[in-house]
Amino acid sequence: MPITLTPTMRSALAERMRYYHELGIYDFYRREVAASEVPESAVAVTEATASDSTQAGSPEEMSPRKSAAVQAVVEDNIFQVLTPKPEQTVTDPVAALKLIREDLGDCTRCKLHKQGRKQIVFGVGNPNAELMFVGEGPGADEDAQGEPFVGRAGQLLNNMIKAMGIQREQVYIANVVKCRPPGNRTPERDECDTCSPFLMRQIAVIKPKVVVALGAVAAKNLLAINAPMSELRGRFYDFMPAGARSSDPSWQGARLAVTYHPAFLLRDPRQKGEAWKDLQMVMKYLGLKPPQKSE
Ligand code: SF4
Repeated sequence: MPITLTPTMRSALAERMRYYHELGIYDFYRREVAASEVPESAVAVTEATASDSTQAGSPEEMSPRKSAAVQAVVEDNIFQVLTPKPEQTVTDPVAALKLIREDLGDCTRCKLHKQGRKQIVFGVGNPNAELMFVGEGPGADEDAQGEPFVGRAGQLLNNMIKAMGIQREQVYIANVVKCRPPGNRTPERDECDTCSPFLMRQIAVIKPKVVVALGAVAAKNLLAINAPMSELRGRFYDFMPAGARSSDPSWQGARLAVTYHPAFLLRDPRQKGEAWKDLQMVMKYLGLKPPQKSE
């Protein structure tokens, strides 16, 4: 016979699950519940149920029944609260990205929505991309056009992509925050924390082989590491976006590389050679060759 939690416990559990969702955590595991952890109310119901239909057993015989009952309670309630994210109900990445965009809506989740944004800049490119670039946030041009990396920094990014022997249309490009920070300031921690779960969901849908973090803000948010660029660059990281289903057999996560943001390279072109080294590492991994120079 199913056992239910008290309304207070049910409400507290639902609240906790919503909190985890907001943090971008969707996957949970169940562990066996030790008899000592069984709530008294559940034990009471279990014992009452047992005594209704059977002779009361010894304490040793009762323990498995208690565990099973509590597990049923946990399962029943968690799965009532844990609905899958909308995009997990479809297999087509185009449809999945559309569902994430719809979920984002006319977003007012962080203060950037009221600080002069013209529009949300969701992301652009190939939904099946092997390579994804992640920047910091939209600038004035991006805010005006609704597409990431379309200004001068975008032109440089396009050139970097071409130098890798591919086209912009083959990759996917997005930012940590989807609304322009006023005056192109660095997005603040709470803004990144609020917006980045949507980026994580985009990455989980696209399932790229490589994610390139453009600049320290992107790197720190994706990797949750606070380190200078000099330490972040020059190596691959194993990357699984927060909230992605680690049990997905079709994707074991991406490799993540860090390089300079194109806007920084415009300010300090001497670092272009270093950025090219980072991109060459990615090209080698993806088997990309630079385009042949025309005669
Ligand atoms: S930056 Fe992201 S979380 Fe903040 S308002 Fe824009 S879309 Fe919403």
